[in-house]
Parts: sequence; C-alpha cells; structure tokens
Amino acid sequence: MPVCLARGLVLALLPLAASLNFPAAAADAGEVNVYSYRQPYLIDPLFKDFTEKTGIKVNVIFAEKGLIERMAAEGRNSPADVLLTVDVGNLMQAKDAGIGQPIHSPVLDAAIPETYRDQDGIWVGLTRRARVVYASKERVKLDKITYEDLADPKWRGKICIRSGQHVYNVALIASMIAAHGEADTEEWLKGLKANLARKPAGDDRMQVKGVYAGECDLAIGNTYYMGAMLQNEKEPEQKEWANSVNILFPNTDGRGTHVNISGAVLAKNAPHKENALKLLEFLASDEGQRDYAEINNEYPVREGVPWSPLVQSWGAFKPDPISLNEIAALRKKASELVDKVGFDDGPSS
Ligand code: FE
Repeated sequence: MPVCLARGLVLALLPLAASLNFPAAAADAGEVNVYSYRQPYLIDPLFKDFTEKTGIKVNVIFAEKGLIERMAAEGRNSPADVLLTVDVGNLMQAKDAGIGQPIHSPVLDAAIPETYRDQDGIWVGLTRRARVVYASKERVKLDKITYEDLADPKWRGKICIRSGQHVYNVALIASMIAAHGEADTEEWLKGLKANLARKPAGDDRMQVKGVYAGECDLAIGNTYYMGAMLQNEKEPEQKEWANSVNILFPNTDGRGTHVNISGAVLAKNAPHKENALKLLEFLASDEGQRDYAEINNEYPVREGVPWSPLVQSWGAFKPDPISLNEIAALRKKASELVDKVGFDDGPSS
C-alpha cells in the first residue's frame, strides 16, 4: 500500500497512539476501541456520556485517511471494535474491504430505518445530512428548486460545485440515476457541467464562498456546512459566506431531497464486540441521536428525535425515501458518468 505523505502527522503518530491507548486486544469487559474518520470534537462528548452511563472506557484513534486500509492490514490482530465514518461510499468501501461483520441488534433494527442500514447488516447510519442548493440571497429570488433545474441553460455560468468524483456528489448522481436512468442522467450531468461557473475544486464551503464572492449564484453543498460556517469562530468571515445564501431543499414537491448518512461499522475482529454493540445502541438512542446530530448540525436517523434549533431554522424538508443500499449499488455507474462527460474539466471543455 503506497504511503500518502499528505496524511501528515496524524497518521505518523498513529502507531504510537495505538500502543499507548490500546494496551491489549484481550477480552477486557471495560473498554471499546473506535477508529474514527469523524473528528474528535464531534464524538468525544458522546463518548464521555457513554462512559458515564456504562463505565465502558472508549479509546479513539482519529485519522483523516487510511483507517480502512489499516484495519484490513491488521487483520485478526486489529484492536478496532468500531469504525466511524461519513457517507455511504466510505461505508461501502469498508464493507468491500471485508473489515466488518454483520450487526445483530434488535435495538438498532428498531431505532434505525432500514433505508439507512446495510442490507447485509455491515453498516448502520447514525446521522443524516441533506445535499442542498445554497442560493444567493441577493441574486436568486426563488423559494424552490429541483436538481433537474440545475441543468437548465438559464443557469449558464452560475453554479459552483466540488469535484464530481467526491463521494457526496457520486451519491447525488447515483440518486439521479435511480430517478431517471443512466441516459437521462448523463444528459443532465452535461447540462450541469455546462452551467458551472468554474472548474470543480475545493470543498463544499468553497462553493458557498463562491456565491458570496459573486462568482456563482448557486452552490451545491451538504446542510451541516451552513452550521459549520455560522459557528466558525476561527474564521469569522465564513459567517458572511453563510449569511449571503439561503438553503433550498431540492425536489421538495417531488421525490424529495437527496440524503446521505454518517455511520458505523462493527469490526470483523472486534475484541470487545459486546461493548461495541452497546456503544452503537447508545449512539442510536434518543439521547445519543439528539447529541450526535446536534454537534455537527446533522439530522438524526431515528424518527421522532427533535432537530437542533439551528437545523430546524433551515426549514422542514422531504427526504428522498430511496434506500441507501440502492444508492450504493449505483455509485459505480455515477462515477463512470462523471468521467464520461468530463465533469471535472469544468464548463469550457
Ligand atoms: Fe463533509
């Protein structure tokens, strides 16, 4: 496996952190080991509550990349009990790498709708995010939009979006294939490409910044970035980006807005399987759901759990009810279409 230098310090420190935090992979009833692509500030408060309730200590290894490969390489000796990550694409990568085992939990089955659980039980969704349109308050006088509209020539040169190959966009395009078939989605993608203001680059926030700066009128992004920008104390200018746009939930009058998840995998060789299940069940509980969703301005997966006041302020929406299993199955086709139309080359080629 080639070592990616860009991973930097976090990964470089991992072997050390592992030996410090994970003293033994023996069947110790008192702990659970989590490998997390989710940032520590999102999960540490939850784990603290879990430990207070159960006495089970949670050891966390955080990295931005390479955890799935690491679990695969560790094999039977892996100390990991649970993997936390975002997007069905990453959850499927874990499944395909064979690092998970089927989760058998009536509690999780009852708490999490089937739509947000792997059909073979390898992953479960824990929070939801919607992929929405951020529209310029100044220049866009619309209160509704559809994903299909984004290919309309009236938006020529007006749309900003990150790489078509990013997992968030691959899933969105997969949802278009599910709704319209491959051929129509290819036409749509060509139309969207033609409407781009610039070559796809940067993350979702950079697209909203593009609207703020007047480079585009519409940006595609996940909902929680609105919260992340509004609450960014280190870079207060992000509040201005956020305040320059309205969130439009596409396809509210039709099939609904595309939704993705963050979720968890139960490690194939989990040395503390019982504790891992307890942790997942805690994260799916009313309390765990409310807190987990609120910290990153996401939506709970569990029905009936209240949304945070900020998330509520963006308005109600109708989630596309399609199963993420179906989205996952169409990801490959979606990714191929992105290359086929040369999406990431931008509007002028
Ligand atoms: Fe994100």
